[in-house]
Amino acid sequence: EEQGNLQGAAEILRDANRAGRKPGEYRDLKLAASRDSLTKLANRGELETQLTLLVTDFDDGGGEDPFCVIFSDVDFFKSINDNHGHGVGDQVLIDMARLLQNETYSGELVARFGGEEFVVVCPSTDLAGGVQKAERLRNALAQTNMGGSANLRVTASFGVSQMTRGDSVESVLRRADKALYTAKETGRNRCVSLTVEQLENSSFDEQIDPEATDPFVRKTEFTAVVASDMVVYKLGGFVNDTNARLLEVAPERTVIRLGHTGILPFWGRTDDTRPVLLTVELENREAARRATRGSSAIRVTARVTPLGWVRKSETFQARARRVLKTLRSYFVVND
Ligand code: GH3
Ligand code: MG
Ligand code: MG
Repeated sequence: EEQGNLQGAAEILRDANRAGRKPGEYRDLKLAASRDSLTKLANRGELETQLTLLVTDFDDGGGEDPFCVIFSDVDFFKSINDNHGHGVGDQVLIDMARLLQNETYSGELVARFGGEEFVVVCPSTDLAGGVQKAERLRNALAQTNMGGSANLRVTASFGVSQMTRGDSVESVLRRADKALYTAKETGRNRCVSLTVEQLENSSFDEQIDPEATDPFVRKTEFTAVVASDMVVYKLGGFVNDTNARLLEVAPERTVIRLGHTGILPFWGRTDDTRPVLLTVELENREAARRATRGSSAIRVTARVTPLGWVRKSETFQARARRVLKTLRSYFVVND
């Protein structure tokens, strides 16, 4: 009732074995409740039931056996309806469903989440495997004629998440949906993955940073996928290869000078005569280990400031951008 108290319950029981019932009828009823009528894929309710089982298995197994969720949404589907009619739109959804099923053969569950949104659940798959699968689906779709028309090409965007300790059905789905949103935002017909760490860091990045508006500071942050002990060696390689000088080395902070300071304090015409200071800060290692649950990822903040006198901020920004790009190339970077 209105206050949310339970006043009673009604229950309907069916005898599946009742005489006169055709064999398989009960199965048909069960199927009807769990299938989407247009595409015959699992419906959203069935998806949630199956995901709940997978999450329980994951937790029971101590998080050893991850699965992936691929969230997909057809690009500009409204315009397909508008330009070709609702019937063709429906056929595109049916074709999309068949394509997703034909392209998956490792025990994946393919479901219609709603409208033109589909979810593929990949058991025993890590994030890299999930992205690979999504990328294959994306390519297959882009190369297939859809809706019974020889020249109707359809694309979709994909978001991928991996089940992680502490996740629920809802949170792992939501993360895939967020990744999908990014895929839409950044041009569609793309696959984007999102980890728990990236999700946490993205809200961190959104905080207002006064240095972000200083034209003579350039800053970048990234997650280096490398054991924390290896970061120092990577930096050593970077310093050697760029003829830089280490000015300060501490466990969590390294200061590097790139380029030569000439007799005059002005910047020259080549990068070599445009000296900058590069400060590389590593997130506190213990905290990092805890935050990433022991995985080999470390948060790196790199900041470039000019040494000497540079007139135009654009000149400095371009130089700093190249320095940071080179630095990043020494790590496998996960933004
Ligand atoms: P975006 O690339 O941003 O996803 O653009 P979009 O046009 O695909 O997105 P939007 O969510 O605005 O449009 C989804 C459309 O899908 C709107 C709705 O009319 C249509 N739709 C939902 N379910 C069905 C269906 O069962 N059949 C048909 N033909 N159309 C459907
Ligand atoms: Mg949609
Ligand atoms: Mg859409």
